[in-house]
Amino acid sequence: MKLGKAANIATRSLTPNKPHHAQWLITRKCNYRCRGCNVWGEQDKNELSADEIKKGLDILKDLGIVEIVFSGGDPLLREDAGEIVEYASRHFVTTVYDNGSMAAKKIEALRNVDFVAISLDSMDPAKMDYIKGVKGSLEKALNSIETLRKEGINVAVTPTISQQNLYEILDITKHFTQKGIPVWYCLYSFDLSSDEKQLFRIGKANDEFVIKDKHAMVELCDSLLEMKKKNKNILVTTQLLKAMRSLYAEDKRTWKCRALQNFFIIDHMGRIGGCHNHNFAGSVFDLPKMWKTKEFDELRETYRECTQCTYLCYIFYSLHGGPSGNLALAKQQWRNAKFLLRGGKH
Ligand code: SF4
Ligand code: SF4
Repeated sequence: MKLGKAANIATRSLTPNKPHHAQWLITRKCNYRCRGCNVWGEQDKNELSADEIKKGLDILKDLGIVEIVFSGGDPLLREDAGEIVEYASRHFVTTVYDNGSMAAKKIEALRNVDFVAISLDSMDPAKMDYIKGVKGSLEKALNSIETLRKEGINVAVTPTISQQNLYEILDITKHFTQKGIPVWYCLYSFDLSSDEKQLFRIGKANDEFVIKDKHAMVELCDSLLEMKKKNKNILVTTQLLKAMRSLYAEDKRTWKCRALQNFFIIDHMGRIGGCHNHNFAGSVFDLPKMWKTKEFDELRETYRECTQCTYLCYIFYSLHGGPSGNLALAKQQWRNAKFLLRGGKH
């Protein structure tokens, strides 16, 4: 990471009352068939061009966004992924999500990215294929991780914790973190929204994936909290693990949602929503005039009281949304920046 970019990011992180994070689902194209995900079954060939996305990125920078996550579908299925990622990487801490099948083939597109997150849900090839709905998914994910490492590109592994892999998560964590590969988690969640006009659907509850063994989940949180004291490669924060623990131990939500305040989501057509579960609130191109409106403030109030999901990234950016949270995130960004300036070596 260039020094100018790192300094700029640290400054934006410390500026109060600004959104911190945006996730941009730049395509709906997907070559996987994951159970519990609707995206592959609800395709839309329309999507913004690279130039339109760049214009949107300029707007996000002016709004104060620090971090961009590109996902989809699989963002690397776009021919112009490299151009988009390179542009974003100039100004944001940029992460690209890949289902594991594309990163090794798109190394040049990923040269400038800060992190590539590879989705890996099991070390058992048959189980991984079952979850992903395609053959050879584990081999492809491992190959992507290895190739990115060899090329000197920062890679993290992101298992989605569900009942399917609950008892494997500690082993997966140990396996990768011992090799110096950081781990971040997603949490299996599903759409509870009754809003017919939700921005897009991920999927209804799938009984095989819903976490039923809450006791094991609490134990997992305790183990990760303990491991995290000595293991810098567990990227989720202590606060997030504690929030997850409360959710499963006491059915208690220890956070208020900060959708459309600290974070928001953008779809492949440039529509923005606080999260994917609610109707879109406008277009990315209208953000400068809409961000401070009464209409947006009212939506923020509604989202603050919403308890309709447990998507881990939404919880994370809600937990770290206040002034002290922003400071914690700023410190984390600065650590990342130093890490990147040192060429990714711990
Ligand atoms: S979870 Fe991701 S990789 Fe899997 S089908 Fe859905 S969009 Fe594709
Ligand atoms: S809790 Fe927040 S992120 Fe989750 S559905 Fe409600 S508004 Fe969206």
